[in-house]
Amino acid sequence: MLGLMQNWPLTVDKIIDHANHWHGSREVVSRSIEGPIVRTTYARIHDRAKRLSNALKGLGIQAGDRVATLAWNTGRHIEAWYGIMGIGAVCHTLNPRLFAEQLCYIINHAEDQVIFTDLTFLPILIENRAKLPTVKHFIVMTDEGHMGGFPGALCFETLIDQNSADCAWGGFDENTAAGLCYTSGTTGHPKGVLYSHRSNFLHTLVTMGVDVLGISARDTVLPVVPMFHANAWGLALSGPAAGSKLVMPGQKLDGASVHELLETEGVTFSAAVPTVWQMLLTHLRQTNGTLSTLKRVVIGGSAVPEAIVRGFRDEYGVDVTHAWGMTETSPLGTQATPNAAIAAMGEEEQLRYKLKQGRPPIAIELKLQDDAGVELPHDGTTFGKLKVRGPFVAGAYFRGDGGQILDDAGFFDTGDVATLDEHGFMQITDRAKDVIKSGGEWISSIEIENIAMGHPKAELAAVIGVLHPKWDERPLLLVKLKAGEQGTKDEFLAFLEGKIAKWWTPDDVVFVDDIPLGATGKIDKKLIRDRMKDYVLPTAKAKATA
Ligand code: ADP
Repeated sequence: MLGLMQNWPLTVDKIIDHANHWHGSREVVSRSIEGPIVRTTYARIHDRAKRLSNALKGLGIQAGDRVATLAWNTGRHIEAWYGIMGIGAVCHTLNPRLFAEQLCYIINHAEDQVIFTDLTFLPILIENRAKLPTVKHFIVMTDEGHMGGFPGALCFETLIDQNSADCAWGGFDENTAAGLCYTSGTTGHPKGVLYSHRSNFLHTLVTMGVDVLGISARDTVLPVVPMFHANAWGLALSGPAAGSKLVMPGQKLDGASVHELLETEGVTFSAAVPTVWQMLLTHLRQTNGTLSTLKRVVIGGSAVPEAIVRGFRDEYGVDVTHAWGMTETSPLGTQATPNAAIAAMGEEEQLRYKLKQGRPPIAIELKLQDDAGVELPHDGTTFGKLKVRGPFVAGAYFRGDGGQILDDAGFFDTGDVATLDEHGFMQITDRAKDVIKSGGEWISSIEIENIAMGHPKAELAAVIGVLHPKWDERPLLLVKLKAGEQGTKDEFLAFLEGKIAKWWTPDDVVFVDDIPLGATGKIDKKLIRDRMKDYVLPTAKAKATA
């Protein structure tokens, strides 16, 4: 027997409709690419997004066509998103941090027909124009006065002026594709995750929960996490859904620029990867800056170092919540919000849990398995492959790339290695491909990195496995020191002592000028391994000559 409730397809146009009706005067403030801070409202965004929908229709865009954006977080980018998705076209967010070759690959793979672009990216598009045969139109997200020299490109503001806001949105199946985002492809070609209206809507509802992002109509939200990378953790959807004020940082993500927006706009909630928060803390300390309104920050994308959580908590009274997710999970998968038992613990004991990646909200199922597919205990120490299932988790990649990606029970293998504890708190111990296999046992490169990162002289630290004749692999610690600092191997090894198992102690410490970050701000271990390919551990040399 079927229920008798209304059939109300979960399509994202209803999110911006809601914001327009009930939070129409709520502000969206952006640091524009042209420079000045610009202010708009949800009502204006709604109106202008409808005009863009008509503009796209006028350019021949139909339901299912892919329309890309190559843009920073701004109000205009939100307008483009809703304008595209409202008519059933697919919003393909391009990550400008990819190499030109990869960008061309994904634009061609997606067969994008239109690209909305910020001024910043005109040079790369002009240079690669000939390699993008499917793209019929480029729309530069600016006004006539700033168009730059892209022959044939259309002007965003002119299209808005020329089109009416009379446009019907939605009316299609909630399983219709809404967004496309390629994973950065640390192995092989990037693969496309194709979000549906329903998956985005459910992700929005779940992440609005108080134990997840928990943003409200009273919050002022600064999404530093880019809209081009895993949907800004859904904030361009949950912000309007909640009626929060949004503050969009544009292209300036350095400590001083982020701090300025936090203070001048009265931001209460923000989300970003650890590197951004590290830059902010450094800036605050150098300038004796304060955080007068910020209450909560969510940090994810890579493991949050303890020093950042303590810095925010002890120096600025800001609560940090650690989150884990991936492009394939829309992206939020777990968040380290205390449950009742953890909340009853002392502050230091709670910190042990807050540094984990956290527990799944409703609609995310997790399991741990060993290589043979046997399910592992939730004892907080046994590591295994982390698998995930749920209505906003990818079921396949665009165009079937990668083939069948789910196991027989419908779980997706995240490629992460993790533990689960008795509170259901998950902790990533490594990426499956980065775990160090020493004498048949696994060493977590991330755990050593995180501790090393807490050394007062370290700016960044990375740990990789290096070949060893006896143990197969042994850990090597690479450290980039803070400007003006000098460091020694012994002092770093002494710092790790007692914090990790003795046999996890790196066989060597190498000081480097640069620890490369990949397109999504994470340490690029593949490149590090490549750079260190001729390096031989002193312990391996000793062994070879013994
Ligand atoms: P990619 O960087 O491969 O494009 P994503 O941005 O989707 O992909 O990254 C997802 C991966 O990032 C996860 O599988 C995990 O390895 C890592 N990750 C995300 N959040 C965290 C976190 N809080 N701690 C450790 N690793 C994380």
